[in-house]
Amino acid sequence: MIMTNQIKTYTLRNYKTIPQIATLSDEMIEAIEVVGRVLPFKTNNYVIDNLIDWTQIESDPMFTLTFPRKEMLSKKHYNAIKKLLEKGVDKAILDKKAYEIRMELNPNPAGQEHNVPEMNNVKLKGIQHKYPETVLFFPSQGQTCHAYCSFCFRWPQFSGMSDFKFAMNETNLLAQYLLQNPQVTDVLFTGGDPMTMSTRLLSTYINILIEPEFKHIHTIRIGTKALSYWPYRFTKDADSDELIKLFERIVRAGKNLAIQAHFNHSAELKTLAVKESIQKIRSTGAQIRTQSPVLKHINDKPEIWAEMWRKQVDLGCIPYYMFVARDTGSKRYFELTLDKCWNIFRKAYRQVSGVCRTVRGPSMSCEPGKIQVLGVQQVEAEKVYVLRFLQGRDPSWVNIPFFAKYDPSATWFDQLEPAFGEEKFFFEAG
Ligand SMILES: *Cc1c(COP(=O)(O)O)cnc(C)c1O
Ligand code: SF4
Repeated sequence: MIMTNQIKTYTLRNYKTIPQIATLSDEMIEAIEVVGRVLPFKTNNYVIDNLIDWTQIESDPMFTLTFPRKEMLSKKHYNAIKKLLEKGVDKAILDKKAYEIRMELNPNPAGQEHNVPEMNNVKLKGIQHKYPETVLFFPSQGQTCHAYCSFCFRWPQFSGMSDFKFAMNETNLLAQYLLQNPQVTDVLFTGGDPMTMSTRLLSTYINILIEPEFKHIHTIRIGTKALSYWPYRFTKDADSDELIKLFERIVRAGKNLAIQAHFNHSAELKTLAVKESIQKIRSTGAQIRTQSPVLKHINDKPEIWAEMWRKQVDLGCIPYYMFVARDTGSKRYFELTLDKCWNIFRKAYRQVSGVCRTVRGPSMSCEPGKIQVLGVQQVEAEKVYVLRFLQGRDPSWVNIPFFAKYDPSATWFDQLEPAFGEEKFFFEAG
């Protein structure tokens, strides 16, 4: 197959021109048409030609990751859209129904808006500051992705729901905020995918942080899925060389540069393109740390994780987080019980060597903090979950084990209750 560095994007408008689409059943095409109206759908030639195995499409994880499938919507929602399509109603009517369904799918989970700071009475919409040492920054031009993950909790940002868009144009506001908050050591650029920005744009955001007055910023992190969905970003795009020079400049300025790479499956690590890109990034002195949610139909087997972590370490990446998927979008389709998540984690963890065990999880990003499921245990007569904060809104909560009643069907922290007849968890007021 000829490798190309020209990105070709496919959405609901033009996906029928993908050559491999001819191999799909009528039912699968219908699912793309119906589900694609509600959940954002975008993929590209690299994903299609290199990551998806078209010979086993019914179960292929990379297809499931970027293409809509029927089961991602409830029957009720699916049939409602299907009916409107069959009737051939106006686009406005279809869009209205799709919007209503999206609103029922919890488009803005886990109270993300609570962590937006204020400065001089102005809400800084492109910033989230939840843990003292780390600021998240959402550059407005980086709020899209090379392809869309069907489970993504940031999907409202991609579907024209602009009031949910945590975005900010002014780097100056970020700079001012950081100067007023010298306790911040880390700035994490996130999105969407900031690596969808041109190098020139990305530099405008980053250049200021390598100025001497920001010496309290030790680490610049960039969250990205580009290594998986468009690895040529680092090697063959028109401005890849400038990008690599930017990384070198950051490292030369004495900063720790960490690429927080999002990988969901070992299939994403197999191509020559991803290997070359990882090498290129590492040659600048930057680190690559990896993370992913654990998802049914994608990576719900310990072997997949063990293989993924081993491969990542082989390539010089550092396994970092396994997340529990948030309650949004098509969560029903992807969700696993906490018990299952923990079992996948421990069965993967125990078969890899210490160099892979930098990974922590399964972790839920909740309102009070990042809560890790340490395990299930029986304490006298009671079966419990043992939990701890990896990150806490109050740092004093971090690393104290605590207990919740075992619930075999729980999929998120808010479904758990304190164990041993306690009224509240230790960190809850009163
Ligand atoms: C995960 C996360 C961070 C970064 O936490 P680390 O444990 O330092 O990687 C920062 N802010 C928010 C809101 C997060 O969810
Ligand atoms: S790459 Fe990240 S932000 Fe983009 S669609 Fe996937 S999960 Fe969402």
